[in-house]
Order: sequence, then C-alpha cells, then structure tokens
Amino acid sequence: MYIVIIAIFGLIVGSLLNVIIFRLKSGDKIVWARSKCLHCGHQLSAADLVPILSYVFLRAKCRYCHKKIDWQYPAVEGVTAVIFVLGYLKFLSPVLTVANLPAYLIFLFFSGVLLVIFVYDLKYYLILDEVTLPAWLFAFLANWLLGFSIFNLLLASLVLAGFFLFQFILSKGKWIGGGDIRLGLVMGAMLGWPMVLVALLLSYITGAAVSLGLLVFKQKSWGDQIPFGTFLTLATVVVLLYGEVILRWYLTKAHLL
Ligand SMILES: [Zn+2]
Repeated sequence: MYIVIIAIFGLIVGSLLNVIIFRLKSGDKIVWARSKCLHCGHQLSAADLVPILSYVFLRAKCRYCHKKIDWQYPAVEGVTAVIFVLGYLKFLSPVLTVANLPAYLIFLFFSGVLLVIFVYDLKYYLILDEVTLPAWLFAFLANWLLGFSIFNLLLASLVLAGFFLFQFILSKGKWIGGGDIRLGLVMGAMLGWPMVLVALLLSYITGAAVSLGLLVFKQKSWGDQIPFGTFLTLATVVVLLYGEVILRWYLTKAHLL
C-alpha cells in the first residue's frame, strides 16, 4: 500500500523535475506558473498535466496543436517513481521506523538533483553550476547530519574533483568538462568515502560499455562527445541504493581471485 502512495508521489515530483529542467533552460524563474505547450503556447489544463496518463491518453500529442510532446516528460516521471520506490525498499522496508526517515528523505532529494543533472547533460551537454554548487553544500550538510565526518566528505569530494581536474588539465578540457569537476564535488559529498570510488568505477564501466555499443551500432563515431555527467549521476544513484551490496560483492570476488 505504501508503495502505491510513494510511486504516485514519485510521479508528481517527476513532473515537477520536468518543469525545473525546462525553466533552467529557458531562464524563467522557478516559481509556480501555469505550464504551456512548447509549440503553440496554449495553457495546459489540469487534465493535460496528469503524470504519464495525460501522455498516454493524448497519444503523445498536444490537445490543441497536435504536435508531439517530448518523451522526456513521461520518462522522467516514470523513472522518478521507480527510484522513489527502490529507495523505499532500501531505507524503509522491511522495518519502517521513523529513525530511517531522514536518510530516505535525503535520498529522495539527492536523486531528484541527480535526475535534473542527468537529463540536462543528456540534452544539452552541460552541467549547470547553479545546480551543482547548491547541491554540494546541501549534500555536505545533510550527510554531516546523518553522521558522516566532515573529513570523510571533504576527502571524497576533493579526491574525485581533483581526479577530474587532473584529466581536464591533461586533455586541455577534451576528455572531461568543467561541469564534471563540480559534479565530482557533489558526488563526494553525497556518497562519502569509499563509496565515491565505487561510483567512479561504475561510471567508467557503464560509460565504456555504452560508448562501445553506440560505436558498434553506428549511432556515434570516434571522437564524438558523449555526456559523461549522465554516467556519473546514474552511477551515483545506483551506489546510493546498492553501494554496500556492490562493494561486498566486489570484495568477495577479489578475495576469491
Ligand atoms: Zn500545442
């Protein structure tokens, strides 16, 4: 029963994240304003804004001008709902205690921020400082309140950002962008040490696998830019959820070898 409520809550937050992503791009102030169709500018009614359902019933087209609605909208809503439910299963189930609630709420906030960075980098090849820098401060504060030491969070932030900075200097900004360095700070403060290393390894593995897949299927060619921030944010969410499991699995495997 809780899962249904949390999934619906995730859908609603997901549609809010879509609005934030859109307003970050258009430069509008993030205040409550009625959403409009991107093509014809028609104000959307409440019935047009029901997460996923509107998209399905309108058959991916605007009710007024019949132009296509970007599939980003239902995708972000659906993914947010799934992440919220997975977080519930990790943080609040099987034992639902009030003590675990702060960790869960902080996880929800982290994953919302990471989703915004993910979609924005995927679409525009850019990681915005106005997202990463406040997120870094918040993550620092939140994890400190959850019991991490300041030293641990600083270490994780600076090692990862320093590693990216090193690559940035070495490649003169070709391998990695300035936004990735700031994202490294955020990841460190969200994950702490040593989980940040698990996320780093995971993002290189998925990044390499996806790049290879795109090359093989001729979707990209050598030298094409691939937004690394998408792999970093994805790996961060996965490690927030399953970091301990991955680390334990890795350590037992390494031991057997
Ligand atoms: Zn329209």
